[in-house]
Amino acid sequence: RTGLEWLGRPADEVIGRRIGDVLRPLAYERRREAIEQGLGGRRVTFEAESVTGDVTRILHYAYIPDIESDGHVAGLYGLATDVSALKNVEQQLSRLVRSDVLTGLANRYLFNEALPLALSRARRAQSGLALMYLDIDHFKSINDSLGHAAGDEVLKEFAGRLQQSVRATDTVARLGGDEFVIILEGVNNVDEPQVVARKIVANVARPLQVEGRSLNLTTSIGIAFRRAIVSADAATAEALLGRADAALYEAKNAGRNTWRVMAEDVLVEEARAA
Ligand code: GH3
Ligand code: MG
Repeated sequence: RTGLEWLGRPADEVIGRRIGDVLRPLAYERRREAIEQGLGGRRVTFEAESVTGDVTRILHYAYIPDIESDGHVAGLYGLATDVSALKNVEQQLSRLVRSDVLTGLANRYLFNEALPLALSRARRAQSGLALMYLDIDHFKSINDSLGHAAGDEVLKEFAGRLQQSVRATDTVARLGGDEFVIILEGVNNVDEPQVVARKIVANVARPLQVEGRSLNLTTSIGIAFRRAIVSADAATAEALLGRADAALYEAKNAGRNTWRVMAEDVLVEEARAA
């Protein structure tokens, strides 16, 4: 009865018919290989979506061949289990573990997955890539004067302004505390990330209202830029992050509210943004 319910058909349209005549073509196509293996005498397990009206289920299937005493396969038994709830929790956990709870941005875990992927895309396309490392200036004093909750509000607002300053395809992540990173893909000269940096500095400078007070926020930015990612060892995720961090250190030393670029290991000097 459960099987008929999932198929969304009455018994007389199912019993005695071939699977291919009962399932919709797409659903049959997804199961075809498993059916062939089952009819070939092997046990198969797999997961597949099952759509009944407006209900979509994830089903876990086991196909068990019905092997007769002479070795001939007469057909197969199918056992389907609804694992939708489990899958939903799995997806939710996967989302949670990859997102920063406070800001909703990608977290360090997701960033660590995203950067190597971005690097291999750049390598394949023989294009450049920039990594920005940002740290809010004197953030501790906001916490100290207005409290931790106000500090959290500032972090959220800051995260939103970063997101607004870049393209939807660029990855913005919060590594922790007041440290953020941005991966800029398809960047082909050293000016492009600096245009973005200028935009971020300007967006961050807009006065911010927290607990009825107006704040002026600034950030320092370290940029690592590779013109062309050609070989695997030339630009590992770790090396790029190290260079962006070193550039950030230079930006902080230069008086904050500015950026510095490390392009192919050479520090590009920039005028103060403010
Ligand atoms: P600098 O200009 O050198 O960056 O100075 P800073 O005061 O911003 O110093 P730093 O970046 O080292 O300090 C970050 C502070 O962020 C330290 C910590 O108390 C605070 N912090 C870290 N995580 C959180 C958080 O989740 N919420 C809030 N409100 N504060 C946090
Ligand atoms: Mg800081």
